[in-house]
Amino acid sequence: MARIDIASCDPARTVVVATGNAHKLVEIQAILGPVMDGMDFVALGDLGDFEDPVEDGDTFAANALIKARAALAETGLELAVADDSGLVVDALDGEPGIYSARWAGVHGDDAANNEKLMARMADVPDEQRTARFHSAVVLARADGSSVGGEGDCEGRIGHTPRGTNGFGYDPLFLPDDTPGKTMAELEPEEKNAISHRFHALADLSAKIVGMGAGECG
Ligand code: IMP
Repeated sequence: MARIDIASCDPARTVVVATGNAHKLVEIQAILGPVMDGMDFVALGDLGDFEDPVEDGDTFAANALIKARAALAETGLELAVADDSGLVVDALDGEPGIYSARWAGVHGDDAANNEKLMARMADVPDEQRTARFHSAVVLARADGSSVGGEGDCEGRIGHTPRGTNGFGYDPLFLPDDTPGKTMAELEPEEKNAISHRFHALADLSAKIVGMGAGECG
């Protein structure tokens, strides 16, 4: 159910964030808020119940743009931010990539995805277990223009899952920045400081600053 009436949002001052994840909204607001001064960041889910668009792009950036443009169409607002992310494993030729959420068949089945990852990596030697989380973030405008940012978190795939924080492939991912710890063993603030989303948002915010005030809102 809508918690915020779309009609009460000033289109010139509102950025709709196309995510159902409250943590992402906080992260996006924290990084983009300072470079989009005076804008209100509102989660799409707080404006109503909308169907998820079909993410049939062939890159993370294309899928982020599909989500952002769907949010603009659904709300009639003028600015939207969306992200798309996933795990890219070198020994698996980049799999699961854009299919990360539904790699084992059912969308968002983290346990099955991690089982599949362990099985596919079972015979891969340590030196070939390199991987990265990748994130694409996009700010789309109702006039059809957009600006995007990309970011990575480099690491390796572990042999057995460890840790209970985070989500997705976190228990099997050992970030290079936190030796000996899986992503799921990090506190949320530690993860946010090194995450692919953090780097993508920092990239996007630098581009927004580079465009100059007024061009993004
Ligand atoms: P989304 O685009 O952020 O929803 O991510 C798609 C899928 O990629 C998720 O369902 C996870 O399987 C995986 N993924 C993305 N980001 C992360 C992360 O930070 N940790 C673990 N898995 C992630």
